[in-house]
Amino acid sequence: MDYSALINKEHRLNSSYVPNDLVITDNNENNFHNYKDPTLKPMISASILPYFLMMQAAALKEGFHIIIDSGYRSYDYQQVIWDKNVEEKGIEYTKRYVMIPGASEHQSGIAFDIAYIRNGLYTDDVTGDDPEYAWLMNNAHLYGFILRYPKDKEDITGINFEPWHFRFVGVELATYLHENNISLEEYHARKKEEDPNHNR
Ligand SMILES: [Zn+2]
Repeated sequence: MDYSALINKEHRLNSSYVPNDLVITDNNENNFHNYKDPTLKPMISASILPYFLMMQAAALKEGFHIIIDSGYRSYDYQQVIWDKNVEEKGIEYTKRYVMIPGASEHQSGIAFDIAYIRNGLYTDDVTGDDPEYAWLMNNAHLYGFILRYPKDKEDITGINFEPWHFRFVGVELATYLHENNISLEEYHARKKEEDPNHNR
């Protein structure tokens, strides 16, 4: 996986793409999938796990306990979510609120949604007003992570503000994006301006 890769509606992952180094990240029984299916335990690519663990440890020192709530999701799983929404809520709703299979960064293994442990209790009530969020906004880039769908970039990413969704892009690129206050889409647009053959 190219850590700088743009994954969105226009740049979809192949239906057969599965990261080959997935690892289970924690044993929290309250996670996104409620362990209904053991294959859906929060998993990420082993290549980014050390970075997450470093970030987690640094946050813990400040009293913030951040966990991975939902990591890898397969193409087929996204298809199930898509089909269920089309059936229950219609195609227009689904197009607006559900990522089409292949367009979800969760298939890449290098993106995840966070939750918190507060006073020993799990919560997935993650907002842009949280002290944990403020800490992440100032520090996530030091570990190679970016908030993928920021509040002020909704028109550019095409996705509503998601204070819980983080993506690994590597320390160098994350720092560049942080210092320039630009999204991954804007980064690739700049690259394309410099080099018309840039293909993301
Ligand atoms: Zn997400």
